[in-house]
Amino acid sequence: MTMGAILKNNAIAGNKSRTIDYLRISITDRCNSRCIYCLPPGGVQRREERDLLSFEEIVSFTNAAVATGVSRVRITGGEPLVRPGSAELIGRLAGIEGIRDLSLTTNGSLLSRHASGLKAAGLSRINISIDSLSPERFSQLTGGANLGPVLDGLESVLAAGFAPVKVNAVSLPGIEDDLDEFVKLARELPVHVRFIEFMPIGKRVGGLWKFVSRKRLLQKLQGYGRLKPVASPGGAGPARYFQFDGARGTIGFISSMSDHFCAGCNRLRLTADGYLRNCLFSEEEIFVKPYFAGGRGALSRVILDSMNSKKFDRRIVNPGERTMSQIGG
Ligand code: SAM
Repeated sequence: MTMGAILKNNAIAGNKSRTIDYLRISITDRCNSRCIYCLPPGGVQRREERDLLSFEEIVSFTNAAVATGVSRVRITGGEPLVRPGSAELIGRLAGIEGIRDLSLTTNGSLLSRHASGLKAAGLSRINISIDSLSPERFSQLTGGANLGPVLDGLESVLAAGFAPVKVNAVSLPGIEDDLDEFVKLARELPVHVRFIEFMPIGKRVGGLWKFVSRKRLLQKLQGYGRLKPVASPGGAGPARYFQFDGARGTIGFISSMSDHFCAGCNRLRLTADGYLRNCLFSEEEIFVKPYFAGGRGALSRVILDSMNSKKFDRRIVNPGERTMSQIGG
């Protein structure tokens, strides 16, 4: 039996009823948006460039994670496409045998210049965060960003042949006013619009907002026509999907607040500065940089430790110090 197989078997034995096979890697804590629910007033302290994991370290870590049974990887941030060379890194990760799904979460603002390169590099899927389809509300939520380049980005990923393409909108008060446009998008394009309940992450910003529940949005959406439950268009997450008759896309919900899915959570997160976290709602993390010196075996062991200490029960929400952009959303 190979080292990889031994580690993988241990991981599954330690987590009896679930396999933790999904790793989200933040490649930068920098972002070109200033989303008001993600960044506190006054901003956050960014890490020095030298404190970030290098591409070499990210690739080594991913290889070690694959040896423990990870087969799905998502690149996130901050805004991942602001890190120079992000497409090259994605190409290197796509080449790792054992990864069957390599995806990206982005705010879409730089996508039109990157979409075809990312496709050629081997990226499987893209999720674009668009919290509003009204230019005014979009600008307000993102601290002044323009919706136009993001919609161009969406168009370019569809043109490049990515599928499924998902659009994520955080459900904050006011989202009800955007439903007309989101419904139109999910009807007319092969796009999966997902409403994500806002989570109170980050002490300085988490308490400032309240989430709009899946139940409330579903009720409102039913006013647009019959919505039937459908299978996931593909992916590793806990979203539940619905479709309007004749629509090309779907509507999904990620109800992290009103319907916790801790028991089925299959993910770990690696922060851009090298901390491994097994729960968004807990500040426990392992600093992995010292383990690189011990090679793949040492890294795989630390990944297994994190997998095996991941809780099954619903956690008390503890906003913690870091915001989503610092952890990796
Ligand atoms: N910059 C990229 C983007 O905008 O998609 C990747 C990082 S961003 C932190 C990832 C996702 O996390 C975005 O969809 C964002 O809306 C979401 N997010 C940030 N803070 C959140 C919170 N407190 N609750 C729920 N989602 C949040």
